Amino acid sequence: MAFDFDLFVIGAGSGGVRAARFAAGFGARVAVAESRYLGGTCVNVGCVPKKLLVYGAHYSEDFEQAHGFGWTAGQPKFDWPTLIANKNREIERLNGIYRNLLVNSGVTLLEGHARIVDPHTVEINGKTHTAANILVATGGWPQVPDIPGKEHAITSNEAFFLKALPRRVLVVGGGYIAVEFASIFNGMGAQTVQSYRGPLFLRGFDQGVREHLRDELVKKGIDLRFNTEVTRIDKRADGTLAATLKDGSVIETDCVFYATGRRPMLDNLGLENTAVKLKKDGFIEVDDEYRTAEPSILALGDVIGRVPLTPVALAEGMAVARRLFRPEEYRKVDYKLIPTAVFSLPNIGTVGMTTEEAREAGHEVKLFESRFRPMKLTLTESQEKTLMKLVVDAKTDRVLGVHMVGPDAGEIVQGIAVALKAGATKQVFDDTIGIHPTAAEEFVTLR
Ligand code: FAD
Ligand code: NDP
Repeated sequence: MAFDFDLFVIGAGSGGVRAARFAAGFGARVAVAESRYLGGTCVNVGCVPKKLLVYGAHYSEDFEQAHGFGWTAGQPKFDWPTLIANKNREIERLNGIYRNLLVNSGVTLLEGHARIVDPHTVEINGKTHTAANILVATGGWPQVPDIPGKEHAITSNEAFFLKALPRRVLVVGGGYIAVEFASIFNGMGAQTVQSYRGPLFLRGFDQGVREHLRDELVKKGIDLRFNTEVTRIDKRADGTLAATLKDGSVIETDCVFYATGRRPMLDNLGLENTAVKLKKDGFIEVDDEYRTAEPSILALGDVIGRVPLTPVALAEGMAVARRLFRPEEYRKVDYKLIPTAVFSLPNIGTVGMTTEEAREAGHEVKLFESRFRPMKLTLTESQEKTLMKLVVDAKTDRVLGVHMVGPDAGEIVQGIAVALKAGATKQVFDDTIGIHPTAAEEFVTLR
């Protein structure tokens, strides 16, 4: 049977664009459908605008710290609409780049909501298109627990487009997004409370890292409330929001920001017309080559709920394109030792096992740790401390995990991730000459 396309990709986000471009580059006839924004979550309401806001938020500290280096300037004033307008302009530029990338690589771009009609047919804008393979790369969507007043809450989707910076913000959640946005709002001058249901945020990260970040955020003025939950949100006549906590106490605020995880985006996708199966948590079930239970349908990225990070979606997109159209170059995605950063202020950078994971896996663990005041802060009043930590297997000397809380932690740990992939031992770290004076050199001088 002749199909219109060899590959029909639903979703022009991180994973979909990568798969489409490479498949087209391998000579396949490819279409991509996109209902909202080219570049997907990461470019429009994720990594990119978030990092721009984090940069923006850090300026409040930069202005203060500049005094220690002899600078005086007028009273700094922050204008949220200027930042948002500039951010929007940059995102529009990136949308254009994504459009060109797709079109120039020969991909047919179809803008609209795509719905699967049968295992080889997709409907978009009232027209049907057939394809030998359909790739579902539809990403995720914020989810807010069902509490009374949830309609008064916003999520990351809306936060990027707020008309004004709220004077007071309540951030609910204890994952990446909650921690990052608490730092963003706080850095920009909003009175920020963060509430989390567990005893300590960032579950799954190294305990020492979590505690260190907690202490740093408290020093910066974020009001952290752990072991609690918001049970309802009421809007008062003057517009103030009142969030009631489990213990009956009430937080008055101007904005309640929920970051309590993301669900797969499957709305009106037509999966009921296929044999595609979902896992218990609702994400699409795939095998280790991204095949769903429907032989002609594949899925990748956030919608499969494995590791919801952009570089992972990119790697999966590449793997799918190769497996379908360049099988001789196919390489499985290696999910081991994925480095990651939390762009809180200060940042977390991490790769490999946490202390707790290493112990649970039966390693005899040797820890190397350093806490210090970064040189850049020695002339300032800032009491911020950096943490660097190596988790080492005492028997084999292999470095199992590298963790940092401090400025540029993501930048530093990215390089070290290469060493871990190469199987570096602590001796290799010790034999490496440092770059002086840097914070990063601590990783090769820990004794
Ligand atoms: P997406 O990028 O979500 O793309 C899916 C696309 O499919 C969307 O454009 C959507 O409009 C489209 N779509 C959905 N349904 C349909 C349909 N039926 N028809 C047509 N189109 C459809 N990751 C990092 O690595 N680093 C970070 O710093 C980082 N920060 C983040 C910050 C925030 C606030 C958020 C929300 C996420 C962040 N992430 C970060 C995660 C990252 O954005 C995702 O892992 C990544 O975007 C997943 O890519 P994807 O291709 O699976 O899906
Ligand atoms: P996460 O899964 O990281 O965190 C969700 C948080 O919400 C957890 O603290 C969780 O608590 C809490 N939670 C979940 N359900 C409820 C509930 N019903 N009531 C109260 N709290 C709840 O999700 P995010 O939304 O922060 O981010 C989604 C993903 O996007 C991340 O996992 C990450 O992969 C990616 N991302 C990456 C970034 C980066 O690379 N810098 C930045 C932002 C996002 P508990 O831990 O107790 O389950």
